[in-house]
Amino acid sequence: MRAEIIAVGTELLLGQIVNTNAQYLSRGLAELGIDVYYQTVVGDNKERLIGAIGIARGRADLLVFTGGLGPTLDDLTRDALAEYLGRGTILHEPTMNKIWSLFTARGGAFVESNRKQALMVEGAIPLRNDTGLAIGNALSVDGTHYLLLPGPPREMKPMFDNDASAWLKELMGETFSLHSVMLKFAGIGESGLEDLLIDLIREQQDPTIAPYAKEGEVAVRVSTKAADSEEASRKLEPAIMEIRKRTAAHLYAEEDVPIEATIVRLLTEQQRTVTLAESCTGGMVSQLLTTVPGSSVVFLGGAVTYSNPMKIQLASVPAELLEGPDATGAISAESAVAMAEGMRRLADSDFALSITGNAGPAAAEGKPVGLVYVGLAERGRETRVETLQLSGDREGIRLRSSKRALYLLWLSLTGRG
Ligand code: ATP
Ligand code: MG
Repeated sequence: MRAEIIAVGTELLLGQIVNTNAQYLSRGLAELGIDVYYQTVVGDNKERLIGAIGIARGRADLLVFTGGLGPTLDDLTRDALAEYLGRGTILHEPTMNKIWSLFTARGGAFVESNRKQALMVEGAIPLRNDTGLAIGNALSVDGTHYLLLPGPPREMKPMFDNDASAWLKELMGETFSLHSVMLKFAGIGESGLEDLLIDLIREQQDPTIAPYAKEGEVAVRVSTKAADSEEASRKLEPAIMEIRKRTAAHLYAEEDVPIEATIVRLLTEQQRTVTLAESCTGGMVSQLLTTVPGSSVVFLGGAVTYSNPMKIQLASVPAELLEGPDATGAISAESAVAMAEGMRRLADSDFALSITGNAGPAAAEGKPVGLVYVGLAERGRETRVETLQLSGDREGIRLRSSKRALYLLWLSLTGRG
């Protein structure tokens, strides 16, 4: 099934709001195995809306509308579709009652325009709106399917996830739906990963292999259409196996979890603990780890040793490393090693990570922006330190440094480094 999303709203065209509904719907439709070929945006204008419906009908089997189901004059999506199809509208009684009782409860006079939200295109089935008033519509006419969804995301999302998705699944007879596995990678960038998989990505047909990148995270989604999960894994497994083989040093999870979740799981399984001494990341690694439920068992704590005196006092960094004629400075491999070792000794943890560097925007200590040292102290092993030269803005550098530190720990926990 080919779909077109039609977002209705002059605000979208004026750039006053971002079309996040289109993104949400595209993702949701893809997950149902429906191909979205076009996304259209059209203003609150009936003529142009009807024109857009005509174009979409010529190139899609499913038209998904969002916006313009409300009570005001500029809300005309339902009317436009009814007019295009040459159908009338009918009142959905339960919605009308809901609107009435809401007005009664508030003690206000009934505003006639609110009736509009209870109207449906003739022949449509209603889609429940638990978070708002306007009733959604689903209908099929001459082989084309139409979904009318409200504009406010807090109404549109639950309506799509519940009644609309159920309707779509029934339409497709649930004969095949999209099954996918998310593979998550650390310690490698998007282009590095693409290099490793380039022939697979180029030659892909079924399953499809799609790389995704967010700041500090890289993922690949391997997907196929299948009747059930058994058939899906039979189709997916060979591709996943090949990817595993090529990316063993980076593939940390086969589900959509951040690396900190994998770290907490591994530390828990191995009954080991970690502490942190963070400078330029200001506690970001602590923040990432403590978002994972259960982290309290393995994460003992950390210090933000931002200034030199705090590095000396809390992480036992030798003062002469930081100040004086022979000092290497706070932004140095020596300092990172001392911070990690000092913190590990202080807390008697199995591991300690340290991060010190210049996140920008200006050079510091004569060290360039993006120069970051990450240290890993481990009980019974020599302390390791990595030098990073990162580009990007301050937040990006801080996040990627944090993720890199977690990657180093992952390498050690999995016996890879
Ligand atoms: P209402 O009953 O609120 O009028 P509606 O279904 O008529 O709902 P619109 O009037 O088109 O929808 O939009 C209402 C609000 O919903 C917008 O002001 C905006 O905040 C949000 N919205 C609408 N369309 C989108 C979209 N495509 N992406 C994200 N937000 C949207
Ligand atoms: Mg509106």
